[in-house]
Amino acid sequence: MVQWPVKGTQEYISLAPSKIIAVGLNYHAHVQESKVFDLKKLEVPSEPVLFAKTPNVLIGPDEPIVIPALLKEYHFDENRIDHEAELAIIISKKCKHVTERDALNYVLGYTCFNDVSQRNIQKSDASGWFRGKSFDTFGPIGPVIVPPNLLPDPQKLAISCRVNGKTTQAASTADMIFSIRKLISFISHNFTLEAGDIIATGTPSGVSPIKAGDEVEVEIEGIGILRNPVIEEVL
Ligand code: MG
Repeated sequence: MVQWPVKGTQEYISLAPSKIIAVGLNYHAHVQESKVFDLKKLEVPSEPVLFAKTPNVLIGPDEPIVIPALLKEYHFDENRIDHEAELAIIISKKCKHVTERDALNYVLGYTCFNDVSQRNIQKSDASGWFRGKSFDTFGPIGPVIVPPNLLPDPQKLAISCRVNGKTTQAASTADMIFSIRKLISFISHNFTLEAGDIIATGTPSGVSPIKAGDEVEVEIEGIGILRNPVIEEVL
């Protein structure tokens, strides 16, 4: 079982969240590239766009992202699986109805997350994004949990992604539409957050396809590099 080191301590923690709440469309440039809205009246969301990923997605650094064998049965013209570099928040204690002012008091730490997404299924499933976002291994996280005292301003961090060494995403967490404080508060007004729950705060523009044989790296300033190879599932 993977354990993640906590920066500045000798501790390692397991990540066994009761839920992973992810945020869609939380960077302006990514809203535009997603073409989710009619381009003539493109607009940013009026409140955070939330969806869930299931805990079976979680893998650690250097573990492979596995492309499900099931996808071959669909014969997509392009089997499109994208990386999405994101800042993840790990919740420290049970909370509900948290104010924005108090929100950061419920953060155990920050780390890198890759919200791996299968686009064909994400677009076509009648129930929405669930299946395309929650295949096994579609949530690499790590390499280290950084406590808030070691990352005093999480809203000013360079965030980037590389595929085989080539930069595909490069932005700042300052570009989020809804801030970390706002996200924790909003989510906690919808759902009770438990210790260990994970919030994935959305990805900047530049999401790009990955395929078997690739190596994908998510890097966030002050946290480190989350590196994972991509392989095909062999039955
Ligand atoms: Mg995402």
